[in-house]
Amino acid sequence: MGLDPVAVREDFPIFQRVIDGHRLVYLDSAATSHKPNVVLEAEADFYRMHNANAHRAIYTLGEEATELFEGARATLALFLGAPSPATIVSTRGTTESINLVAHGWGRKFLKPGDQVLLTEMEHHSNIVPWQLAAAATGAELRYIPLTDDGHLDLTDIEQLLTERTKVLAVTGMSNVLGSMPPLRLLIDAAHAVGAVVLVDGAQLVPHHAVDVAALDCDFLTFSGHKMLGPTASGGLYGKDELLASMDPFLGGGEMIMEVTREGSTYKEPPFRFEAGTMNIAQQIGLAAAVRYLEAIGMDAIREHEVALTRYAIEGLQEMGARIIGPTDTAARGGEVSFSYRDIHPHDLATSLSEDGIAVRAGHHCAQLVMRRFDVPATTRASLYLYNTTDDVDALLDGLEKAGAFFGD
Ligand code: PLP
Repeated sequence: MGLDPVAVREDFPIFQRVIDGHRLVYLDSAATSHKPNVVLEAEADFYRMHNANAHRAIYTLGEEATELFEGARATLALFLGAPSPATIVSTRGTTESINLVAHGWGRKFLKPGDQVLLTEMEHHSNIVPWQLAAAATGAELRYIPLTDDGHLDLTDIEQLLTERTKVLAVTGMSNVLGSMPPLRLLIDAAHAVGAVVLVDGAQLVPHHAVDVAALDCDFLTFSGHKMLGPTASGGLYGKDELLASMDPFLGGGEMIMEVTREGSTYKEPPFRFEAGTMNIAQQIGLAAAVRYLEAIGMDAIREHEVALTRYAIEGLQEMGARIIGPTDTAARGGEVSFSYRDIHPHDLATSLSEDGIAVRAGHHCAQLVMRRFDVPATTRASLYLYNTTDDVDALLDGLEKAGAFFGD
């Protein structure tokens, strides 16, 4: 049986909210997702019953905290098809994970003349850390362009991906366009020229089954708060040998073997990259989110979102909205960006909010995409497992109302 979003909503207390007399129509999960009771309970239970710092204390609570924190790492490893928990570094999310790689790998191994290959659909968090690493090392940045329908334009890929390319950093799913680049093809092509590949999984991992071993990516990043987990949860998957070759990102307690006046030696990964008191409760909450997603099934979630995305795109097109991104749902997720008449996205979002409808308006931290499609901003409705066709209908009704109010 397919996923029943109405039953799913029962698990999320926030959907009991009434906003200015309206039920909550939440179409902004690409920014952050809501949390089911099991996640709220897991986090609260840690604080209520097991709270202590992990990896430090020998007393019972300390051992329990360590066990729960390491158990969360093991859950994440299994969820992502990673070969061992040691390949998962706990972080506050994708931004921190990409900075960790750009710093620990990029600044160590990039040299003047090397190239970092990005794409024009990247979120700023998969651009700026590489710009910083390039500025520090003398490496150059290059970008894979986009087609008019919002996919990667791979026409000139052989000129872009060469033996000078040392890293390809690419999103698994665009937060603006929804497009899903052909990861396996890109990873194979990058490996053929000796480049390592980082996949920004911030949008992909919450919505699509991911198997890092099958993909053969070198790094994968993810943000717990976008996949039903707490804020400040998330992680980085990295191949053993790559993690082992990298410099630490942050220095501090618990990531060292020995500290002398002159210098320090570091622990093996993943602990080398986990300085100071970690996001213990958050990672435990994230593990509960993963168990919840697994119980529903990532394939069922994907199937539900494909059908709902199709319904939303068709409805928007019928109203004359311009979809910015692919309209074919085969290789895209449920991040649906659009412009409607000449109404500014901020006006549209404000008008929708009056009816309890939450959408995002702006550049979505992807200014290269805005420039490519020659728009200052878009309105984005993003879908998840708890969204229904009623939510999409509410959006379409809201647009009609805004259209009447703002006129042509
Ligand atoms: N990459 C993509 C594709 C995103 O959509 C986001 C967040 O919107 C990020 C990276 C940054 O994630 P976070 O803010 O959780 O670090």
